Parts: sequence; structure tokens; C-alpha cells
Amino acid sequence: MFIDNEKIYIKAGDGGNGCVSFHREKYVARGGPDGGDGGNGGNIAFVVDKGVNTLLNFKYRRKFIAQNGDDGKNSKFHGKTADDLEIAVPEGTVIRDAESGKVMMDMSTTDRYICCKGGRGGFGNQHFATSTRQVPRFAKNGTKGQEREVILELKMIADVGLVGFPNVGKSTLLSVISSAKPKIADYHFTTLSPNLGVVSVGDGAGFVAADIPGLIEGASDGLGLGHEFLRHVDRCRMLIHVVDVSGSEGRDPISDIKLINSELEKYSPTLAKRPQIVAANKLDLLPENADLSEFEAYVKSLGCKLIYISAPIAENTDKLVSMTYQMLKDLPPVAVYETEYVEKERTMASRDITVTKENGVYYVEGEYLFNLMGSINFDDRESVMYFQKTLRREGIIDKMRDAGIKDGDTVSLYEFEFEFQE
Ligand code: GDP
Ligand code: MG
Repeated sequence: MFIDNEKIYIKAGDGGNGCVSFHREKYVARGGPDGGDGGNGGNIAFVVDKGVNTLLNFKYRRKFIAQNGDDGKNSKFHGKTADDLEIAVPEGTVIRDAESGKVMMDMSTTDRYICCKGGRGGFGNQHFATSTRQVPRFAKNGTKGQEREVILELKMIADVGLVGFPNVGKSTLLSVISSAKPKIADYHFTTLSPNLGVVSVGDGAGFVAADIPGLIEGASDGLGLGHEFLRHVDRCRMLIHVVDVSGSEGRDPISDIKLINSELEKYSPTLAKRPQIVAANKLDLLPENADLSEFEAYVKSLGCKLIYISAPIAENTDKLVSMTYQMLKDLPPVAVYETEYVEKERTMASRDITVTKENGVYYVEGEYLFNLMGSINFDDRESVMYFQKTLRREGIIDKMRDAGIKDGDTVSLYEFEFEFQE
């Protein structure tokens, strides 16, 4: 749903050239050809690094060129073969060829993938002597290493969820701490999306934070949008509980924390157990002589860390970021559940669709589509993402467009209604 992507240029090393040389020795006239072969160029290999979970590194470096193989030398010495250049990516990164847009590899299925092959070293002249050609004055050049542009795509799952009442400053906080904002991919169901931001802590390290708006009382009963948004934080490793400590809107920070926590508890007891940092926001609005002892004692009783911040002026927000990062280091990684539907897509059901329009709604039907719908759990984000990817890959989105469906049109697929958007 949120796809961070970066385009990079990669080039494997060229093969070294073969060498032209003849054996020389004192008193030996006209030695035979002894030019060694060139070494192979280094491959470009993507490797999974479980320690990283963002593509931040690629914002700073976009060109990766592996070493060339060394040229061959005389006395039949072969040139050295260059080492592979390894590019570390987070698990689950999808590598696409930029030109065709085609997926080359999904790095959740392997932990090493050679994407560009190094050139082969050329033969030295020692290989080219024949009975009739005893003085081969040529050797072969190495071949070029492959090069291409690739797009790295990473489906992002939030490490940290920002929870709290409306207007406490969650969005402000996210906009202040996240340097890089991921593009929100061209998804059809954008209304279900919370805001995600990549928070950098330097050296390419960072974490993903999600702002979960609309978490209000009753959210866990399906009231408001909170329920939808809670799904996105289901797998968060920890929460930042933002509270308006100044009570500027007539709210009481202690009862706010209680209410939000009880909402979380109702929705997902496991989520409610995730460690929290309480970010007491709007410090600037707090009266000089405010008595915070009760509030602090309450936060302490919850076993939560507490930090006072003022989001819009970035007061203490750096400290909150490093506190969060430290805490994340000790927490287990985000739970990723693999999609289980991969096998079903191999059925040979017809991809054809029929489109009928009634009262402004486009009803789309088809055999493959029907089977596919049956395998999708529309309550699960991964599942919906899989659904969308499949529609696109199988050409069903194209067919819908060919049938005259345009952006903004309402489309109904076997009771599942959505707004079409390319
Ligand atoms: P959200 O609903 O939790 O996402 O809250 P927003 O980030 O949209 O903030 C709600 C309002 O509070 C906005 O007008 C912000 O400018 C304001 N606000 C947020 N943080 C602070 C703060 O630390 N101090 C003050 N004075 N205003 C803040
Ligand atoms: Mg907001």
C-alpha cells in the first residue's frame, strides 16, 4: 500500500582483456605465445540485510558499478577476477527492471540475487596458436558487464504507530520527524491509508512510523475510521502515544491515555501490550506553574517512558526519535505474514471480463476474477495488496480501462465496491 521506491543504476564489471605475449628466455629463440586470459568482471548481486528496513541508503547513493576483471599478463598469468559488488537491501524488496517495469526478483524469496552478470575475461593469445599460426599476435577482449537501471520497491510496514486523540499533534509530529516521505502508491483504496513516514536516524538507519488518525472512542466497535486504521498498526513493534499535555482543548491527558488504551485493548490485546512511549505534546502551551506530578505518576504506573515535546517547533523531537530508535533495537522485527494465495493464481481460468453499467456503477464479472475474489480477505491489508497486484498483473485493470472505466468511476466486483483509480 505504501511503496517506497528508488531507481538506481547498476553495472557489472567488464571482463579483462586477454594478453598478447610470447615466451622469452635467454638463449631461447622465438618462444611460444604465453599471453594469459583476462579475469571476469564482478557481478552485481543484491543481498538481504535483515538489519535494514528502509531504502534510505539509496537516497544518497544511486550508482553501483562493480570492478572490472584485470587484464591477462604474460607468462600465462590470468588477470584477477573481480569480486561481486553486493548491494544490501531490506528483506522483501522487489527489484524491477526500470525499462520494462517487469519484476526481476522479490527479495523475500531469496537472500542473494545476481542482477547483472560481469563480463567474461578474454582469452590470451596462448589459446590461439595452431600448427599453421604459430605467432598469434592477437588476443580476445573481455566482454562488457551487464548494466541496467532498476527500481527497488519496498512495501512498508510501520515499526512505530502514533496513537492518540484527534488534534493532539500526531500528524504534526510525523511531518517533523520524518525526513523522507514515501510516495503513496497509485492504489485504488487510498481512503484506507494512514500516513507513513520514513524517519532517518543517520547512516541510512531509520524506522517507519505511521500516523493513525481517527482513533476515537468506539473505534474498536467499528465506529469512525479508527477501526480501518488500526489494521495498519496491527504489526507495529511499538507505539508512540501522543497526548496533549496542556489540555488545550479542555481534555485531560490522563483520561485520554486511559481511553485510547482501552480502545486498543478492545481492538487487539496484543497491540495494546506493545511498549509505548508517551509523548506529552504541546509543551509550549503548558502554563509555567502546571502541576504534572499526577500525570507523571500515572505514566510511570503504566511503565511507559515519558518525554515532553512541542512538535511544530521540533522541541525534543530529536530526542524522541533516538529514544524510539533505541527501544526498537531490542524489539522483535515486524511480523510479516506471507501471502498464502500464490498457488491459486496458477489456475487457467479465463481472464476475460464482462462489464455492465447500471445506475452509474460498473459491474465487472469474469471467471478468473470470481475465483480470485474468493481467495481474498478484504479485511487484511496484505491480502488486498495481493489482490490489486494480481488484477494489474493479469491485465484485468487494463481490460477494465478498455471497457471504458475511468478514474473516479464506481466499480463493483461481486459486491466489493470501490472507486477506480489507475
Ligand atoms: P492530529 O489530529 O493528532 O494529527 O493533530 P495535528 O497534528 O493535526 O494537530 C492539531 C493542531 O494542533 C494543529 O493546529 C497543530 O498545529 C497543533 N499543534 C500540534 N502540536 C502542537 C504543539 O506542540 N503546540 C501547539 N501550540 N500546537 C500544536
Ligand atoms: Mg492528523
